[in-house]
Amino acid sequence: MAGGWARDGAVSEQIEASIGDELARLKARRQPVGESLTHCAECDEPIPEKRRTALPGVKLCVDCQQERDGAHKARGGINRRGSKDSQLK
Ligand SMILES: [Zn+2]
Repeated sequence: MAGGWARDGAVSEQIEASIGDELARLKARRQPVGESLTHCAECDEPIPEKRRTALPGVKLCVDCQQERDGAHKARGGINRRGSKDSQLK
């Protein structure tokens, strides 16, 4: 399998994509995007009212959100853990 070159290209694309994602996330965080959902958009779990109040426009349950954040963190290595935790609780 000649995957070496394809990998290099994919990595730099991923870095650019994660910067764009991060900016979009920051914007979404500052400006509430509509109503909070009562149930997770991904797994249909009920979203606790506390979480919906704390995060206006929230669309994911804690598990799905953490899954997304975790995947993101692994790629970007962005250290914003402190402020994020305080927003989630
Ligand atoms: Zn979910």
